[in-house]
Amino acid sequence: MYHMALIRRRAVPAAEWPYLEKEGFVKELLVLAGDGIGPEVCAQALRVVEVLIAKHQLEVRIENRAIGGASYDLCGTPLSDEVRTLAGEVDAVLVGAVGGPKWQDVSREKRPEAGLLELRKAMRTYINLRPAYCFDPLVDASSLKPDVIKGLNLIFVRELMGGVYFGEPRGVLQISAGVEKGFDTQVYTTPEIERIARAAFDLARQRQNRLVSVDKANVMESGVLWRAVVDRLHEGEYADVALTHMYADNCAMQLVRNPRQFDVILTDNLFGDILSDAAAMVTGSLGMLPSASLSDIGRPGLYEPIHGSAPDIAGQNLANPIATILSIGMALRWSLERPDLGKLVDDAVGKALARGARTRDLGGEMSTEDMGSAIVQAIGVAA
Ligand code: NAD
Repeated sequence: MYHMALIRRRAVPAAEWPYLEKEGFVKELLVLAGDGIGPEVCAQALRVVEVLIAKHQLEVRIENRAIGGASYDLCGTPLSDEVRTLAGEVDAVLVGAVGGPKWQDVSREKRPEAGLLELRKAMRTYINLRPAYCFDPLVDASSLKPDVIKGLNLIFVRELMGGVYFGEPRGVLQISAGVEKGFDTQVYTTPEIERIARAAFDLARQRQNRLVSVDKANVMESGVLWRAVVDRLHEGEYADVALTHMYADNCAMQLVRNPRQFDVILTDNLFGDILSDAAAMVTGSLGMLPSASLSDIGRPGLYEPIHGSAPDIAGQNLANPIATILSIGMALRWSLERPDLGKLVDDAVGKALARGARTRDLGGEMSTEDMGSAIVQAIGVAA
């Protein structure tokens, strides 16, 4: 079973969704604000959620818990059993950020980052969605020319639980005096490729029906299998989707040359890691980029800004909360079954930016709270 049933449901107009008529329909959102700027940006995202609850019939119950360094300080571990269990029971989990210099001397397995990795693993989220979207008012914030970036709206579907980051064997071995060998294994099985490719095909159908599958089939055996499985699925079940294959190196070039050619990009874990960072950054600041990690249908989704805890600006009310607010937008679409409100949130961010709202990373003077207020206000106007 795939989480993609939710993606399919996304095509249904919100007004026709049967769940809206269900009595006592309440979703659950677990907020793990974490460390550094995490609590600051999550506070603004929660203001947005509260407005949606108050004004737009969003029925969601919110639980707040600690993760990362905050959790370590509280109970000696970056991910408590309670939080791990709770994360498996709610509909969506929002993470702010983890880590910081305060915990640099803590042992590796107790570090804040280890808690987040453990959470991702426990939630078995194998579909990583990373949009790269250029808001019109920020067209000049990109490192690319405005006419190349204007209107950019692509999304990566990255495989998140397999490939070279997990493949065995791996290690560093001494092979002779003074010579070591470091090695990793890039490995994918047919079911692993099929389930992520299905997710990408389904998502493409909800967008412009165009999918680019990325691999290195010219030099890697796992790439040969990746391409064959994607082709087989295309022929058998998704012939209506316009599919092209692209080598990863060419994809990197095309993302910088003409990123608007893309709609949905399917990648393995490694290529997706690198290419999605490059694509996302051409849209402006790190403070703008949300992400969603999904699993099978019925299992909770994990939503997080892609930035870290930014210790250099933490506690100063300077962080841009937009990535976290857009992550809530993604949660509304993929887990909380309110795609109408997901769009409202995205539109409100666009409106706030159009009215000149800018935190420091976007070249402005606004505080974290003021940016939150500008977006909350834009939601009010959109109501
Ligand atoms: P970072 O993303 O925290 O910061 C990089 C730069 O971007 C900094 O200059 C920071 O001020 C700026 N920045 C980041 N988010 C911003 C925002 N919302 N608004 C304005 N500016 C923003 O990366 P880093 O400095 O390499 O890492 C700091 C800590 O965060 C480390 O402990 C690292 O392990 C951790 N980290 C956590 C996550 C996560 O929680 N998912 C991701 C990356 C890094």
